[in-house]
Amino acid sequence: MMKYAIIGDPVTHSLSPAMHNAGFKAVGLDAQYHRIPVKMSELKEGLQFLKDNNYNGWNVTYPLKEAIIPFLDHVSSAALAIGAVNTVKAVDGLLYGHNTDGEGFLQSLLTKGHSLKGKNIVILGAGGAAKAIAVTLAAHQAVLTILNRNESKAKVLAEKIRELGGKASWGELNSDKWLQEVDVLIQTTPIGMKGEKFPFSLEGIALSSLVVDLIYHPARTPFLEEAELRGCATMNGLEMLLYQGVLAWEYWLNSEAPISVMHRALLA
Ligand code: NAP
Repeated sequence: MMKYAIIGDPVTHSLSPAMHNAGFKAVGLDAQYHRIPVKMSELKEGLQFLKDNNYNGWNVTYPLKEAIIPFLDHVSSAALAIGAVNTVKAVDGLLYGHNTDGEGFLQSLLTKGHSLKGKNIVILGAGGAAKAIAVTLAAHQAVLTILNRNESKAKVLAEKIRELGGKASWGELNSDKWLQEVDVLIQTTPIGMKGEKFPFSLEGIALSSLVVDLIYHPARTPFLEEAELRGCATMNGLEMLLYQGVLAWEYWLNSEAPISVMHRALLA
């Protein structure tokens, strides 16, 4: 039997096991996907456990995505550019790391028919998810504005994007004239997970803009509800979760993932 897992702390609420196990069952693959809690202080032992028990691959979540890199034998160029790994495969005792978060997000936009070249993209937040998205979208010629509570973190990320050849500016997390010019607004902070209101209103936002919140539980945060009320198209984080999983599957198995089955499992 093939074995896969998600490692991190916490992993109890992860939807990845439901998504991948439904996919394995649908294609008749003798494989199982488990939750394995691994704290930062236990990373080395956790990886040894996965190797000793012949796990074929695993997803990596908070807080291990950066810390795992020194333990890997190969890291993909995408993961190196982002500086974080969310997917690992074990082949002949060697560990290969990749990052499917940014590409997963990109895929969720492309499948809804959105293009990126020259588009004004505003990213709220500058944490791990924002980094993966920013690096990927900048590589597809989007023009980025990164706004963060801690402005210096937004600056570091914008400067990294520029070093990689992309276009990015930065600022504090507040509303400004960018609202009238934004094509895609991406909310990457945890604000709204407990139903909290966002710190500023979207009054004046371009009606043609797409507003995305990476949070998928609740399905509609107050931020997304406001965007909807103002007439914008909206999307929550479920599609990103789906496509990062689809791309991880394809990285592990070199075969096409059963996307609609995996999507249904997430919705259920
Ligand atoms: P992270 O690395 O901890 O970054 C959190 C970001 O949010 C930082 O920029 C932080 O700003 C900001 N922030 C946190 N609390 C804030 C507050 N009260 N007010 C203003 N800004 C605040 O987290 P992450 O891994 O990027 O995850 C962020 C969110 O994305 C989470 O809700 C997570 O569930 C979601 N996510 C979804 C997916 C998906 O597949 N849909 C994938 C990854 C993440 P400072 O720098 O100022 O602290």
